[in-house]
Amino acid sequence: MEWGIEMVIKAVVWGENVHEQTNKVVADLYPDGMHGAIAAALTAAGGIEATTATLQEPEHGLTEERLAGTDVLLWWGHAAHGEVSDAVVERVADQVNAGMGLILLHSAHFAKIFKRLMGTPCNLTWREAGERERLWVTSRNHPIAAGLPDHFELENEEMYGEPFGVPEPLETVFISWFQGGEVFRSGLTYKRGAGNVFYFRPGHETYPTYFDVNVQRVLANAVRWAHNPAPRVVGVNDAPNVPVEAALEPIIERGPRLHKSGEDGFR
Ligand code: ZN
Repeated sequence: MEWGIEMVIKAVVWGENVHEQTNKVVADLYPDGMHGAIAAALTAAGGIEATTATLQEPEHGLTEERLAGTDVLLWWGHAAHGEVSDAVVERVADQVNAGMGLILLHSAHFAKIFKRLMGTPCNLTWREAGERERLWVTSRNHPIAAGLPDHFELENEEMYGEPFGVPEPLETVFISWFQGGEVFRSGLTYKRGAGNVFYFRPGHETYPTYFDVNVQRVLANAVRWAHNPAPRVVGVNDAPNVPVEAALEPIIERGPRLHKSGEDGFR
């Protein structure tokens, strides 16, 4: 990155785009889809060029070429996690390990890609009662919380409650309180390989959550935070053998060996 050149972050908002097509409440709230509303808000925030991709497109809109040119991928899924191709999930995981940012939204806690990268069940408790959610900023100087008040409220949201079956995060940026009494770690950061990963809880499809200015600010901040401007790491799944004669310091081979010279390692 050269100084003086304004950098535009390329974000892709992936939406499964199912309830927008099948549920009138969701279709009326989000005529351009949740992915469309999120992409519009990100682009309006400045410094971000956001486009969309959906489950129904060939390769879910996430070809190798598309992902190679994507700085940060946002993922919203709920009813059709099982319809996402395992090959695309592995492709996304490779790109995250190579440095692409990934932001998981709401019910994407059960997305294949999130479970794949977390390695845990990612389960939680839930209730759909339109109750108030109050999000508290727990890491005041965190870039994802920049410009936010110390807490903000969403008048109607689905409840997600602890325990949340994820690995201990690097940082917890938000904790949510719900009217019914539950609490939830609602903004969590991870690093997987060279990729920055953020999970953000709000965003149930029957509520106008993605039109909330504080939510929009969180998402724009998160895209900027997740962007890794370094070139992608090449060969993230390679495990090369370093033969004796290529050792940096001279060594003499000794002891028994399992592998013949030049043979592949175990997988
Ligand atoms: Zn939901």
